[in-house]
Amino acid sequence: MSRFWNSRTRALSPYMPGEQPQNRACIKLNTNENPYPPSPRVMEAIARAAGGAGGCGERLRLYPDPACRELREAVAERWGLKMEQVFAGNGSDEVLAFAFAAFFETGSPIAGGVVSADGFVTRREAAVLFPDITYSFYPVYARLWGVPYECPRLQDDFSIDYTSFLAPCGGVVFPNPNAPTGMAMSREHVLAIARYHAARGVAVIVDEAYVDFAGAADGASRACGADPLSVIDSIEDHPNLLVVRTLSKSASLAGLRAGFAVGNEELVEGLCRVRDSFNSYPVDRLALAGAAAAVRDAAYYEETTRKIIATRERVSAALVEKGYTALPSSANFLFIRHPALTGAEFFTRLREAGILVRHFNTERAADFVRVSIGTDADMDVFLAVCAKEML
Ligand code: PMP
Repeated sequence: MSRFWNSRTRALSPYMPGEQPQNRACIKLNTNENPYPPSPRVMEAIARAAGGAGGCGERLRLYPDPACRELREAVAERWGLKMEQVFAGNGSDEVLAFAFAAFFETGSPIAGGVVSADGFVTRREAAVLFPDITYSFYPVYARLWGVPYECPRLQDDFSIDYTSFLAPCGGVVFPNPNAPTGMAMSREHVLAIARYHAARGVAVIVDEAYVDFAGAADGASRACGADPLSVIDSIEDHPNLLVVRTLSKSASLAGLRAGFAVGNEELVEGLCRVRDSFNSYPVDRLALAGAAAAVRDAAYYEETTRKIIATRERVSAALVEKGYTALPSSANFLFIRHPALTGAEFFTRLREAGILVRHFNTERAADFVRVSIGTDADMDVFLAVCAKEML
């Protein structure tokens, strides 16, 4: 605590990202990064965007396009949308932060209200709903903006009970597939949630950070822009539905910081209003060009995604065979449990063996660790350590 902090800053509990070791050699399976490089077209586009003969970066003198048209156009083209239905941001974390600010009411003392876990006094119907085990940034955004929230419990098998989101509330947000479980909700159930809230004017945010990894391992159903689990194709019929995507996972661009959201024009305009009250140029010139090139090179990413899915299925089966529990994953990570060690103990053993994974010290999740899918070679080292830990 510092005397210079205002009360809002004192009340914050910031998100803790996974460790990014700067010089230690290790196998890094802790932040769901892609083990394969991005499309070669990304670097070509970045070099062009920097401009200038001999790569002097002449164009970096200039601010980027505040409307982020290059990336929005690429997204609109790929999914058959209008540019006005697309918003671009500095990573999907920023898009999510703007969405919380744009669509969810902040808590205020209301007579007859309830006090939520965070001390906000509000009517229950004003609370935003997200699952009790989910992306741990959601409660952080809620606290930042003063949004009251409630967390319906995942079922005992760790799946989301979609009916627990069919209740009057101030908004809904969840990842599909969910993180850190990796488990997917069917499109039908996602759309049932959106339909329920549409009539009430309540926004439903579906965070599709990992949706590309839900496809079949043979890649058969992965035609360009036609993701089997995504609800991007349903935004026309669901004016309250905002779908958030990132370039950090399937597009191998976590270091570039680019994400986007698609939804009804009014939702996109709401996001623009928040952005333009905060930072007019959140997506830089290089990120816009690189991300747009990635969105346009679906063929390249189908191949890397197919490899990751195949590795995930192989590793999952091997772990189960050794006696581990692995939840059925539709993402680029596995949520796994050692039969005897606690999640924290297993995390430490892996760390000692030079393998970084993620552990969440919360109820029910604490028994597990989340393991990002790396290259086949990295996962073989991981499996060898897992075999040793069963002796
Ligand atoms: N949503 C989920 C569910 C995530 O796991 C992540 C990655 N931590 C993000 C959003 C944010 O991704 P980025 O900001 O890199 O686009």
